[in-house]
Amino acid sequence: MAKGGSSSRRVLGAALLVAALTTTAACSDSGSGAGPGAGGAPAPAAGQQAAAKARPLTASAALNEHLRKVREQRAARVLAARKWGLKQTPLEAPAPPAKKPAITTRKGFETDGTGLPPVFTTVPTKEKIVFLTIDDGAEKDPELIRMMTELDIPYSAFLSDYVVNDDYGYFAKMQRSQARGVALHNHTLNHRYMPALSYERQKREICGMQDVIEKRYGTRPPLFRPPYGNYNEDTLRAAKACGVRAVPLWASEAFPDRMEWREWDRDLHPGDIVLTHFRGKDDWKGSMPDMIRRVMNVITAKGYAVAKLEDYV
Ligand SMILES: [Zn+2]
Repeated sequence: MAKGGSSSRRVLGAALLVAALTTTAACSDSGSGAGPGAGGAPAPAAGQQAAAKARPLTASAALNEHLRKVREQRAARVLAARKWGLKQTPLEAPAPPAKKPAITTRKGFETDGTGLPPVFTTVPTKEKIVFLTIDDGAEKDPELIRMMTELDIPYSAFLSDYVVNDDYGYFAKMQRSQARGVALHNHTLNHRYMPALSYERQKREICGMQDVIEKRYGTRPPLFRPPYGNYNEDTLRAAKACGVRAVPLWASEAFPDRMEWREWDRDLHPGDIVLTHFRGKDDWKGSMPDMIRRVMNVITAKGYAVAKLEDYV
């Protein structure tokens, strides 16, 4: 996954509201090292500063330009949060680590096999960040893509072909909807209870979905999540044979009307993976935007930012 720049350099559409935020202290947590002596101006976001690109900026001009963009992005986010009815503006995730953390299988989640992709519910980090993951793919609400793009919140989708295959285009649009892309990962072809299947059938479920995602979206996903979070050693062996590097489960699950927690303390922790689903009003008490509103209100109120899973795993 390319690490083109910190989130602070991504600029949303509502550029005209720059004046709304004037504090330059806004840059303090951007962590992007674009100040004087950082080796030149930050790479401009696509289409943002063609004129500035034509001649080299001085260090201070580059800094000013950077600060302007940060303010612009903040203003857009504040506006988007208001538009979508969030109680607070989502917090900005810190710059991703230079090196991804080493991830091991969570205690109690091991199988007998060794050298298999790790199974985990939380990514090791001290940052107050969580990861948002959305499973299956039945509900294809265009509002979800619009909302997440405008709020500039990263998320990852774990797709199962049997519910995705009536409209691959929706997820192609999702994949392209954010500057750094929305990653599409493997959740099997048919969403079976994997431990009931032979090694060969599990392999068909996982490798088959790798093929679908590669054919439709251009990449073989590195991440796999077994349906219902159920797996055995054959599942992990098959996943590895299909090119899967890691098996992220989840620490909590978001619904439009509540959270469900895996941990006894019923709380978020640094690096927690949050699960939710592509569902609509027929399946649960609200729309996709209702669910996002609810989970974002919880995440932000607890002082967490949403980070991009692929920066860490
Ligand atoms: Zn599922």
